[in-house]
Formats: sequence, structure tokens, C-alpha cells
Amino acid sequence: MHDLIVIGAGPAGSTSSYIASLLGLKTLIIDFQEFPRFKPCGGGLTVKSLKLLESLDIDIDSIVEKYCKRVYLITYSGVYELVSSEPIITTVSREVFDKHLLQHALDQGVEFMLDKIVSIECRSDEVIVRGLRDIYRAKVLIGADGAFSITAKFLGNHVCMRDCAIAYMSYVEDSHIDYAVLDFTRIKYGYAWIFPKRNSLNIGVGSLRIENYTKVLIDYVSELNLKLRFVRGYPLPIK
Ligand SMILES: Cc1cc2nc3c(=O)[nH]c(=O)nc-3n(C[C@H](O)[C@H](O)[C@H](O)COP(=O)(O)OP(=O)(O)OC[C@H]3O[C@@H](n4cnc5c(N)ncnc54)[C@H](O)[C@@H]3O)c2cc1C
Repeated sequence: MHDLIVIGAGPAGSTSSYIASLLGLKTLIIDFQEFPRFKPCGGGLTVKSLKLLESLDIDIDSIVEKYCKRVYLITYSGVYELVSSEPIITTVSREVFDKHLLQHALDQGVEFMLDKIVSIECRSDEVIVRGLRDIYRAKVLIGADGAFSITAKFLGNHVCMRDCAIAYMSYVEDSHIDYAVLDFTRIKYGYAWIFPKRNSLNIGVGSLRIENYTKVLIDYVSELNLKLRFVRGYPLPIK
């Protein structure tokens, strides 16, 4: 039996299992996807995220796509330029970033299991986690299984779409800018972003109001005279 099972090997799961293992807990992390895996995301890390990673001794220098020391905020009252000697937004590829964090956890002694969890049973002295491949037992469970969390569902906290924000992202080929843009004039209750990567731009829109914003994003990219590769949307639980 493990001390801890973590469902989901995204940033939340990998980081929490890494910390648990550092604290000496026998930890198992379970995900139904093999890594690296695609996750719709802007891949923009804030100063707070970087500080957290630094405090955990997780070095991401080798996988950073761009450090943005300049950010443009486009608002109805004007365009503001933020400049800093330190990066304001640091961009990564989520495929690479998530694999990097998981590798840190594995190097720290965390075990990984490829399985899709379908049910969770809490007993007084253990948690029983049933997957499509096997049954797992631990003293404690962390649900880090994302927007459609099965852990939340089994705890009676089913995530409804009305409790979610939504964001759509796309990639376009371009590598010429090293600043980020947050545009608050494109979409109601949200913003559009442009985050530069090494060989591309990650462009997206996110809003607190759930709607299909595919066309908003397509129009935005075409106004910028850029060529869109694809559009992916995904909910963000906010309650
Ligand atoms: C379009 C878009 C753009 C975004 N841009 C940014 C950004 O620029 N910066 C930022 O900080 N945040 C951004 N976000 C938010 C960010 O993506 C999420 O907050 C983040 O991914 C949450 O991480 P997590 O580890 O909680 O979950 P996830 O990264 O979603 O990982 C959950 C994991 O759980 C696994 N899983 C789920 N169910 C099961 C199951 N039943 N059994 C086994 N495994 C399971 C999944 O396979 C997955 O690997 C964006 C979100 C969207 C949708």
C-alpha cells in the first residue's frame, strides 16, 4: 500500500507528488495519458509560478521558450507597456513542461502508473482507487485530475460547465517577437493573449462566460495577418 496516490500528472499532480516524495511519503502518481501529452494552454508562467518552482529547486531554464520582459496591455482606455528587468511572463511548451515536472517527481522516487481511474472509495483507514487496469490502495489521495476530475465527482463535487470559464488557443508560425500581449478589448469578461514561443506564437482567448469563441479567435488571428494552425478549447473550473 502507498502512503499517497495522486491522480493526474499535470503540473498540480507532479508537483504535489514531488513534494510528498521529498517528505518521505511512498507516492504513486496515476495518469491515463502517456507523457509528453498535449494540453490546450497558453504556456505562460507568471512570476509567482517561477518563484514556486525555484523554491522547490526545479530548474526550468533548459525548457523555457521565451522570457518576456515586456508586456503590452491593450485596454479600452489605451495601450500600456510594462517593462521589467526580470521576466514578467515566461513561456513554455506544456508538452515539455509537464513532462519535465513529472520527470522531477520520478527522479525523486515517485512511481508512475498508466491507468484511467474510474471509481474511488473512501474507507476509514484507506482509499481504494479503481482503474481500468488495476486497483490501488493508499492512506491518502490527491485528486489533481483536471477540469473533468473524477475525484471531485466521487466527493460529490461534480464540475458543471456553468461553474467554468473557457479558453481557446491556437499556434501560428512566427518567431520574431519577444514580448507578450494581453488584449482586454477582444472578448467580454476575458482577454486575448499572444505569447511568443521559440518558433511560433501561442494566441488565444479566454472568458468567464462559456461560449464557443472559435470564430473570435479565427478573426483575431486573421486581423493580425497570421496563419492559424488549429483551434482547441478547454474549460477552466473556477468555483
Ligand atoms: C486554452 C487554455 C489556455 C491556458 N493558458 C494558461 C497559461 O498561459 N498559464 C497558466 O498558468 N494556465 C493556463 N491555463 C490553465 C492551465 O492549463 C490549467 O490551470 C492547468 O493545466 C491545470 O493543471 P492541473 O495539473 O490541475 O491539470 P491538468 O494539466 O489538466 O492535468 C490533469 C491530468 O489528469 C489526468 N486525468 C484526468 N482524469 C483522469 C483519470 N480519470 N484517470 C487518470 N488520469 C486522469 C489527465 O490526463 C491530465 O494529464 C490555460 C487553460 C486553457 C484551457
